[in-house]
Amino acid sequence: MPQSTAGAQRIDGTVIASEIRQQVRRQVGALQAGHGLTPVLTVVLVGDDPASEIYVRNKLKHAHEAGIESRDIRLPASTTQATLLDTIAKLNADPNVDGILVQMPLPSQIDQDAITKALDPDKDVDGLHPLNAGRLVAGQPGLVPCTPSGCLIMLRRTIGDIAGLNALVIGRSILVGKPVALLLLQANCTVTIAHSKTRDLAEICRRADIVVAALGRPEFVRGNWLKPGATVIDVGISRIERDGKKRIVGDVAYDEALSVAGAVTPVPGGVGPMTIACLLENTVRAACLRRGIAFPDA
Ligand code: NAP
Repeated sequence: MPQSTAGAQRIDGTVIASEIRQQVRRQVGALQAGHGLTPVLTVVLVGDDPASEIYVRNKLKHAHEAGIESRDIRLPASTTQATLLDTIAKLNADPNVDGILVQMPLPSQIDQDAITKALDPDKDVDGLHPLNAGRLVAGQPGLVPCTPSGCLIMLRRTIGDIAGLNALVIGRSILVGKPVALLLLQANCTVTIAHSKTRDLAEICRRADIVVAALGRPEFVRGNWLKPGATVIDVGISRIERDGKKRIVGDVAYDEALSVAGAVTPVPGGVGPMTIACLLENTVRAACLRRGIAFPDA
């Protein structure tokens, strides 16, 4: 476990994500050399939300750099659910497409759940289809949501073996909290899941060797809630204004945490960059799973 005596280690997501992307590049090279296979990722963007545009551009750029063939489909904001379902059906049926990502959020006339359920689970690189959620519960191979995978990679790189540690996950969303908790359980941690009705959260937090904060409340977790030496993964992203300046902060009071914890992820520059890196890894995994090819060592 990291120790807290000389201030916490900053877990650099930018560096780790870059290493994962290089690893994916080598895996793509191995698939091309061994099987003549270049994984294909298709990103579907509905509407012109500026933040979504940036996310999609970044995903396509990193996919390209990793040697993954990337395609994007742009649909107008007025797209109906039926049209989007039709687009997904075509991508599901296209044998050359390995991964499909529908950028969220979708315009209000479209039911996000219906879209997620319509994806071929074996091409669902966001890992949010109910079948992939079930596979995660059952411990079967499948596609795992990207941000939770990124959290586990960071924990393993920081601590090594996490078996037997007390892990607290704050948040129970389908996107982050629940899959993180299941991955921690799979890694043999003793897992507590906290949510908005949890009592004595600070007290529960003080017993945790690992804290994964995914509640979306700026700087909610205070330094004096943390066990000395704990490893803290801050998933939260909130935009706030302080001293007249706009800032992005996480769910953990970072400066306070630095003086107590053993290691902390910063926001930005922590979990965020890991999400795209894990999306690329999922695309390679999907290409392998669909064809019964072993996931390449890298
Ligand atoms: P969400 O769907 O809004 O879920 C938030 C969860 O936090 C809920 O389970 C909620 O409990 C719980 N919660 C809310 N207030 C709480 C409180 N006071 N005490 C304890 N638990 C509380 O959010 P999400 O999609 O999981 O995202 C969480 C945060 O992560 C957001 O800031 C989001 O922007 C960020 N995020 C970052 C990345 C990344 O790449 N870094 C990716 C995804 C999300 P209930 O279930 O009881 O309502």
